[in-house]
Amino acid sequence: MNISFLGGAGTVTGSKFLVRNEDEQVLVDCGLFQGLKQLRLLNWEKINLEIPKLKAVLLTHAHLDHCGFLPLLVRQGFKGPIYCTPPTREIAQIILEDAAKIQIEEADFANKKHFSKHRPAKPLYDTGDVQRTLPLFRPVNFNEKIIVSKFEIEFKTSGHILGAASVYISNGKQRLLFSGDLGRYHDPLMHPPEAPHEVDYVIMESTYGDRIHESIPSLEQLKTLINDCWKRKSILLIPAFALGRAQNLLYEILQLKRHSMVPDEIPIYFNTPMGSDICEVYCKYPTYLKINSSEFAEDMSKIRFIKTADESRQLNQQKGPAVIIAASGMLTGGRVLHHLKAFGENSNNTILLAGFQAAGTRGWSLATGKKQVKVHGNYISINAQIIQSDSFSAHADQEELLSWLSEIPKSPKGVFLVHGEPSASDELRKLIAERLKMDVTVPILNSSYNLEP
Ligand SMILES: [Zn+2]
Repeated sequence: MNISFLGGAGTVTGSKFLVRNEDEQVLVDCGLFQGLKQLRLLNWEKINLEIPKLKAVLLTHAHLDHCGFLPLLVRQGFKGPIYCTPPTREIAQIILEDAAKIQIEEADFANKKHFSKHRPAKPLYDTGDVQRTLPLFRPVNFNEKIIVSKFEIEFKTSGHILGAASVYISNGKQRLLFSGDLGRYHDPLMHPPEAPHEVDYVIMESTYGDRIHESIPSLEQLKTLINDCWKRKSILLIPAFALGRAQNLLYEILQLKRHSMVPDEIPIYFNTPMGSDICEVYCKYPTYLKINSSEFAEDMSKIRFIKTADESRQLNQQKGPAVIIAASGMLTGGRVLHHLKAFGENSNNTILLAGFQAAGTRGWSLATGKKQVKVHGNYISINAQIIQSDSFSAHADQEELLSWLSEIPKSPKGVFLVHGEPSASDELRKLIAERLKMDVTVPILNSSYNLEP
């Protein structure tokens, strides 16, 4: 077999790994590049593969950096199938429809303001492309073996978010394991990632290859912050990713309420319509979660789900105490920006940055102590208390990555580290080589390797 790294190599976004066996190919993940402009521009380039030879796409999970390029692959002639777990299929629909909507809005905005170099500015894809993509999905359960041409494929649980999978691919002679995004061993909602089975090659994520997460449990942090917010009659604003982080936060807050560890009266506002739709998918698949789902569904009545833009605006008049969860997680856009304007200036309030903040984002500015940020064209002062924590992360940290890989029964012939910034991947590479004595490679974008039998 042969493998090409068409995305997710040297960066955390754009995951696309092409596996070739003679004249047949499958693609693991088909994600969008995000973040820095030089990466985003890659989304406009034609994908470097022969579509007629592509027998299937295997989707590990529904984050945009893993599924967001699918409509473009379809536009380039791909006719399916796309295999993934049933919840991933449902969440991918929500994520892709939202992505198309945002791209159309941004193109319209650029045309109105005339700031695009392209005249007229066009969306990367539109809702029609998404509608042509959705019928190509074929849901498969964990541990169910499927045959695609000469490949045998199996999905196993990887933790991380609802439906997230690791993928095994075999051609009868060689076996590969794609870790997908690996979750944590003690995630509040998700089962831990399944230990790797014996394979020839492992293609493994390395997002936090150079970091060890804080040891204070997320539940403890939330408890302290919410009680503090109650005493000070303040606003606790939590920018959150609509998929994964938002559901984990909701669950933990509801647990605190259920066990009377925070006042039951404190209102919790959940201001992400896409996040609310995803909550419904979470409640629909109880066996994918390690929690008592009927309790979770029942407790949801304690949350005030904000739907319309009007309701969202009214929230800005809140006096506190109140907790507001709103997207986006790195304050790059979305409704949370209006709340930042309304509540960021008051030193009595608190902003909890509950996730990774990429360089250049507003979230990163706040995390690094900037006292002014630009929102909708104007600078605003930030006096609110800023708390940054990685206890809420949905990704395994360095120790967890190492212990996952160390559980493999027999050393593989090789390990490829993907889905990481170069420094993170390189630090993990050294540790795997030293401690586990494995042969490790950090592939660069668009590199290919023949896998020795
Ligand atoms: Zn992910």
